[in-house]
Amino acid sequence: MTELAAYACQPERSRGRRHAEPETPAHAPSFRNPHQRDRDRIVHSTAFRRLVYKTQVFLNHEGDLFRTRMTHSLEVAQLGRSIARALGLNEDLVEAVALAHDLGHTPFGHAGQDALNECMAPYGGFEHNLQSLRVVDELEERYPTFNGLNLSFETREGILKHCARRNAQAIEVHEPNGIAARFLNDTQPSLEAQLCNLADAIAYNAHDIDDGVRSGLLTLAQLQDVSLFARYHAQTLSEHPQLQGRRVLFETIRRMLSDQVYDVINTTRDALVQHSPASVDDVRQCPPLVQFSAAMFDESRALKSFLFRNLYRHPQVMQTTDWAREVVRELFAAYLAKPQEMPPAYAHRSDLPRAVADYLSGMTDRFATREHARLTA
Ligand code: MG
Repeated sequence: MTELAAYACQPERSRGRRHAEPETPAHAPSFRNPHQRDRDRIVHSTAFRRLVYKTQVFLNHEGDLFRTRMTHSLEVAQLGRSIARALGLNEDLVEAVALAHDLGHTPFGHAGQDALNECMAPYGGFEHNLQSLRVVDELEERYPTFNGLNLSFETREGILKHCARRNAQAIEVHEPNGIAARFLNDTQPSLEAQLCNLADAIAYNAHDIDDGVRSGLLTLAQLQDVSLFARYHAQTLSEHPQLQGRRVLFETIRRMLSDQVYDVINTTRDALVQHSPASVDDVRQCPPLVQFSAAMFDESRALKSFLFRNLYRHPQVMQTTDWAREVVRELFAAYLAKPQEMPPAYAHRSDLPRAVADYLSGMTDRFATREHARLTA
């Protein structure tokens, strides 16, 4: 790894873990820093393996080549690491946050999350970011003496990218001046956390075009309305007039991705020069520094709203998401009425609605579908 800049999260100055653990275990020499250790814990977790069978936009059974939460997370990690390397940021931390950022997602993508949020409205709601944190803090059962993965402060901070004030206050009670404090005192997270947010958006905007065209729900003609796409599409065709089929799409997306990556690197470099943070503590007091240029920000937002109108709200996508919502609603009601249908660890909890949400949100698309058939037959 290249040398870390002064404004990066320095692994040796980590703010530590919730449960005390020696960073140098007695049985093995220490060749991993805390953030590398976090990444390894995430990769070995149960929730991470489930991502491969969770919907990103297209339901898992609709085709083998569409993105899943797993491949999406890997693409976010790849983009994040590239940008981190260029900026002298902590690549390992970026990778850990990127791989964990969607661990709390329900089955069936946003439809599943919306439905579960509605079901949980009387009981404090359901929010996938907060759930990702619950997965790594509480729900993974892999260690003899504590719940969760016991990740470092910096990785947990990056995972909690949004948080309602009410939830931030609740976290602050258990963890004073902890990862939720920034939502109450309006400060920023580390640059690595800021970067993962942006890498997430760059990744899904690009791969949803790819999946949208592959599925036949989006056409290249439609995409000419999106300047960020149309520009590189025209460039590709003018440099390679003979090129046809998928390679035109792939080359266009490749150029789109790399231009956004360079835009973030250059704009962020300028912001770093302007604000010259000398430590991660300085970074927290600055405005957000990892950013697109104003022009790229507008283009990225235009692409996102194009995808909303034409892909996420496409009648064919809506039809499957309506079905998914019903599955989640009916499963929630079924477990609430008959907790004994869940494994004992969930069935016997005193906070039953939250136990149902934890159990249900951990399911893969396929398992939820099977459970739904079993309980509503
Ligand atoms: Mg994501």
